[in-house]
Amino acid sequence: MPLRRPNARQTNLFLCLKDNYGVLLHDQATGATASIDAPESGAVEAALKATGWKLTHILVTHHHADHTDGIPALKQKYGCRVIAPAEVSSKYPFVDETVKEGDRVKVGNLAGSVIDTPGHTAGHISYWFHDDALAFVGDTLFSIGCGRVIEGTPQMMWQSLCKLRDLPDDTEIYCGHEYTQANIQFAQTIEPNNKALAARAAEVRDEISRGLPTIPTTIGEEKAANVFLRADQPEVAAAVGLSGKPAAEVFREVRERKNRF
Ligand SMILES: [Zn+2]
Repeated sequence: MPLRRPNARQTNLFLCLKDNYGVLLHDQATGATASIDAPESGAVEAALKATGWKLTHILVTHHHADHTDGIPALKQKYGCRVIAPAEVSSKYPFVDETVKEGDRVKVGNLAGSVIDTPGHTAGHISYWFHDDALAFVGDTLFSIGCGRVIEGTPQMMWQSLCKLRDLPDDTEIYCGHEYTQANIQFAQTIEPNNKALAARAAEVRDEISRGLPTIPTTIGEEKAANVFLRADQPEVAAAVGLSGKPAAEVFREVRERKNRF
């Protein structure tokens, strides 16, 4: 396994629009800086100004407008390289490089790989920076939640979530929205006795009361507390009346209950 070097990078997280997160990834060695998605150009520019970083890349996770609307203005201003899945390059002219599962991306010396994570949209991708213990998961995985299954199937979404769950436990997860508190309220209806979830609820109450983001989270924390990653746990299947059923069916039921919550 290559040596991890978590101090090679910095991140800057900021709110955009109503509840979207923008995040910048900065390579200390070269100064290269990526915006992960671009909900709105003004918020990204403000973050660049605050950090003093220069935008070199935009890494796009999926085609929704609240992740792409800021791209044209940023590309025009900074001439940055836009990397995106095919569902974005087929819809918009601003993409320089189309990527899919297993492709490598570089932000200066920071090396990431693409993971196909369809379900929320048909062509959603995530970016994993192994040596830097980071993953950018867009609207696939949220803290204590997951994205709505809009274009894919529950089976597809469950498989995508399992791929993210397989990342190392200490992987920091940056997602596209601040939904954690509402997700916890729902998750506790399914797993009222989950101690890791109760601990996360207390932590999030404290963070929100101090005006802090609840992101990033880690894969290890999410595996213990996020009901959507736990659809193959017997206690979750039992809680939704589907003991012994395949995990994808349990996942579908949990997701449908959240849609109605
Ligand atoms: Zn979306």
